[in-house]
Amino acid sequence: MKRYRHHLTLTSLALSVFLLLALSSLFTLPSVRAWSEENIDYFDPLDYRSLSQRDTVSPTVSSIHFDLVGALAIAAGFSITDAATIQAYSQATDSGPLPEEHPIYTFDADPANYPVAPPISSVITSTICPSPSTTAANVSMGSTDSDLMACPGCFTDRYGPYGVFFHMPHNSADELDAIHDWTWNITDTLMGKVTFGYGSDVRFTWKGISNVYETTPCFVQEIHAVDTGSIQPGSMEALGIYLHSLGDNWSHQECIAAADAQGKPFAAHVTVDGNDDPLWPCRWSDHKFEFGDPDSFPESNRTFSGTLALYDALVDFARQSNRVLYRPIPVTAEENHIYDTLYRFVHTTSALRPDDRRVMADQLRSWALDTRESNPAYWRPWAFLPLLLQ
Ligand SMILES: [Zn+2]
Repeated sequence: MKRYRHHLTLTSLALSVFLLLALSSLFTLPSVRAWSEENIDYFDPLDYRSLSQRDTVSPTVSSIHFDLVGALAIAAGFSITDAATIQAYSQATDSGPLPEEHPIYTFDADPANYPVAPPISSVITSTICPSPSTTAANVSMGSTDSDLMACPGCFTDRYGPYGVFFHMPHNSADELDAIHDWTWNITDTLMGKVTFGYGSDVRFTWKGISNVYETTPCFVQEIHAVDTGSIQPGSMEALGIYLHSLGDNWSHQECIAAADAQGKPFAAHVTVDGNDDPLWPCRWSDHKFEFGDPDSFPESNRTFSGTLALYDALVDFARQSNRVLYRPIPVTAEENHIYDTLYRFVHTTSALRPDDRRVMADQLRSWALDTRESNPAYWRPWAFLPLLLQ
């Protein structure tokens, strides 16, 4: 019986994967993505009209980094405007200026302050750069080329010097925790890890079909104080950026572990040699399987844990902040509402419908607004005092 069930699960897994691949090949843009852009467009997070009345404009966004983070910020007690800022910067960490035309949310770091790759002649032999003397001098990774960066001041850009740091961070003191401590105002300078690569003709863009470890023979990593422009430690913008990196840490968790096990200095999406490849969790199509029934799509469990981690972080920030208007609604309060909604958001929506997830996030947001206003247990009357005195 057990073997039969196992066989059935494998058959249904194979069938689901086949169907999913067949379906995704029908559309030019695969939409089954949790933490990267999906087939849903940006909207102004301060537009309170119903979903159908809202204007949407480019770029495309992630139903988690954008929609869900905004709803969870409301549930954690943030004001509507603070929740909008958190939501926008959680997405802008990937996208750059939002919206694409006439941006409201953007980055203004001084491009002159980006760290520059040291000349290859000064690079010392190491395990991640075994032969600098025979490595070509050109910098293939970590440059600030304007055709790669979403905007000149976009210091979180995926293709910029801090791309790995913000989007593939280890859960370690010098990576994710560094962003955490700057966000929680424990440190006032964000110390970021820069990754430079040398000697390849293939520029590292995450999008190119290549294996950066095979094409680039030498890497150098350095820690620099990040010029964050007008974004202050402890701010709502900083919190949005941290939530993005926390989400990406969950999204890429198995890739990060696989890269570590292979002694790679960082994790990256790479081409793989079939599913026996030790870097299989880092394959480019990794993000296509992050939603759905946990039996058929085990990676969706990681997505679910990631959404819970986002809410934990929002609640943790809210508890130590004096600008949060309401007490956070515990994840299991109100008949387990937030927990169950997150479970449904990840596991029971059709894996091909980001629109459905947008609706669920919007319903969670409305529910959280009603719940915190109607139940005095969530009120923090003194939090409104400064607003009244203004
Ligand atoms: Zn990212």
